Amino acid sequence: MKYGRLKNFIGGQFVDSAATAVQAVTNPSTGEHIADVPLSSAAELDAAVQAALKVQHSWQIVPIREKAQIFYKLKASLEKDIDTLAAYVNEENGKTIPESRAEIMRGIECIEYGTSLPSVVAEPILEVSTGVQCRAMRYPLGVVAGITPFNFPFMVPFWMIPQAVGLGNAFILKPSEVVPVTSQRIAEHMRDAGIPDGVFSIVNGGKEIVEAICDHKDIKAVGFVGSTAVAKLVYSRSSATGKRVLALGGAKNHLFVMPDADPEMTAKNVTDSFTGCAGQRCMAASVLVAVGRVDPILEKIRERAASLKLGQDMGSVISRAAQERILRYIDDAEKNGAKILLDGRQAKVEGKENGYYVGPTIILDPEGKTASASEEIFGPVITIRQARDFDEAIAIENASPYGNAAAIYTQNGAWAREFSHRAQAGMVGVNVGVPVPREPFPFGGWNDSRFGVGEMTGAGGIELWSQSKKITEKWELQKKTDWMS
Ligand code: NAD
Repeated sequence: MKYGRLKNFIGGQFVDSAATAVQAVTNPSTGEHIADVPLSSAAELDAAVQAALKVQHSWQIVPIREKAQIFYKLKASLEKDIDTLAAYVNEENGKTIPESRAEIMRGIECIEYGTSLPSVVAEPILEVSTGVQCRAMRYPLGVVAGITPFNFPFMVPFWMIPQAVGLGNAFILKPSEVVPVTSQRIAEHMRDAGIPDGVFSIVNGGKEIVEAICDHKDIKAVGFVGSTAVAKLVYSRSSATGKRVLALGGAKNHLFVMPDADPEMTAKNVTDSFTGCAGQRCMAASVLVAVGRVDPILEKIRERAASLKLGQDMGSVISRAAQERILRYIDDAEKNGAKILLDGRQAKVEGKENGYYVGPTIILDPEGKTASASEEIFGPVITIRQARDFDEAIAIENASPYGNAAAIYTQNGAWAREFSHRAQAGMVGVNVGVPVPREPFPFGGWNDSRFGVGEMTGAGGIELWSQSKKITEKWELQKKTDWMS
């Protein structure tokens, strides 16, 4: 077992968990058992909270410019280590090395935003009446926590860390127990960059730690990224204890192909969107809405997807269970009358027969009668629906309970603008199939893709991980005035 039994990171030290229960961590490309992750107890979470409480105030009062200096060091050390970090992500998640490197770069971009905090958190000051000044200042919340999913073991923790830590909180990470290896390396980098002991901790585990985070009275805010079912649980359980919580959930992203779409660009972009990271992105294309007759473009997408080399251009899915779930959706669609235009069910990669692979799959279900058209599959599968016109297409998109991303392929500005207004999604793309808003724009969906107020990353992260204090001041020198004068 390459990485052995993983440790928690508490008070600046890697410590053994007392847990006897462990979960096996598997390389999904090969099926090889690479580590055991301990399923820690609520008492171990409490130890991390106590270590965090001890140092949080002394971290809070470090000037923000000094805090930002640590992010410069962190960025430089992560960049130097990108090969190793990408190898970890590739090994435990199954995405390709180029995809793993792209994930690291995107996480580092979030740290760049952290370096800019001293410039962006300055608040206004105003003479609100004669001799009376009002100013606002941002304060941390205290001890806060982040709970992350399997699909971005490096990037999603860094959606939270720069603003949470940079604004003076002590942060506890509960990584996905499916991909806990990368975060061990993150802890080493945080420590070596100069984050004080106890300001950043990792407690490994599953459901029990998530529930303990929601219930802990000294954890003041929770950031969650994962499936909608768990996002709802975390949102309601954390809110019940008065925490601030932002829980991002699952997705079913619709992409419109209009008759005037550029065929080459659309085919490349749509294929990249539904097959990238083996379709395991909350921003991945999931339903293609063909508006009018766009058959030549659909054929180009099919050809392009069929030409991808599995194991090289596209990685594995995360587990045997995920592979079986995805295959069930395809079987079910076929049984219920949909046509499988490209079938990835028999996909194999030579030399990696024990890996969990599914090839790119295109399902034609014009009226959306099968579950593949409405439920999150989270694999390299796209379902094509047919709409007579733009309005019918909008009705299809708007009927989805999710609202993470939506995109349109067109060369017509009026359609693009109308789509941007009417799509029920927090992140919209025009000729962009994975419309992730890059920093400083915040990341967050609508409807069943997001529970709580606010957004992750960018300016949204400042709101999420800090609170504003308004200070109104008057001095004796202005004796004749009061705050209303
Ligand atoms: P998941 O919900 O299974 O797990 C996420 C986290 O919740 C993990 O840390 C896990 O330990 C914990 N968890 C799992 N089951 C739990 C339970 N019953 N009670 C308490 N905690 C529990 O999600 P996943 O499979 O790791 O990730 C894939 C999902 O995440 C997809 O639905 C995807 O769309 C979503 N996702 C959303 C975004 C976004 O920004 N909206 C980003 C990435 C992934």
